[in-house]
Amino acid sequence: MGWRALAAAAADLAWGGACAACAAPGPVLCPGCAGLLRRLPTQAVPVRPGVPPTIARGDYADELRAVILACKERQGLGLVPMLAELVTGSAAALLHERWSGAAVRVAPIPSARSTIGERGFDLTGMMAGRVAVTLRGVGMDVRGWRALRPVRRSADQAGLGIAERAANRRASLVARPGEPVQVLLIDDIVTTGATLAEARRALTVAGHSVLGAAVVAATPRTGTPGTRTASRTGIH
Ligand SMILES: [Zn+2]
Repeated sequence: MGWRALAAAAADLAWGGACAACAAPGPVLCPGCAGLLRRLPTQAVPVRPGVPPTIARGDYADELRAVILACKERQGLGLVPMLAELVTGSAAALLHERWSGAAVRVAPIPSARSTIGERGFDLTGMMAGRVAVTLRGVGMDVRGWRALRPVRRSADQAGLGIAERAANRRASLVARPGEPVQVLLIDDIVTTGATLAEARRALTVAGHSVLGAAVVAATPRTGTPGTRTASRTGIH
């Protein structure tokens, strides 16, 4: 049995042999759903002031939502490469617009230690590492950098409004000091943007600059072009 087959068999054991997105029997992600995800265009996420420019691959819905949920909540390590590939597309689009040519450090939005422990892997950290490797492969001076760490446990964000989320996230991250660098943030989902704004605050305090954020998906609360207007959400 070759490596690929072995990996697929391991995935089938872990998954009961069904596509995470459409539940078709077979590999962890069927070719049809993989192709559909890869074809998702990058899109700028409308964000309110204070949130760095953010690019996503689509709304947090349908196949995109199914794959993220399966990866995060069902120990779907086998889905990390696809999520990393998708967020790399967001990162490339962002750098295409905003990169000055200087060195870039790719920083994951950190998950709580308890979350990483329960999940068994550090999703955003792994995604950031893969983004850096891919972009280095095309000649850019890009490295992964765990620049941020949580400073205190934030209360669960679920069920909170935008203002409460922002307050809850205030001073919740600290950035490593060091020679000033340009930082690209990596996260799986952007909701209100409060976490990304906090990351930018922490990095700026430490002397760094933030180019923007690359994410996999944006929830309808954030809004993505063509799906929701600023007037409906009250945020920009
Ligand atoms: Zn499928």
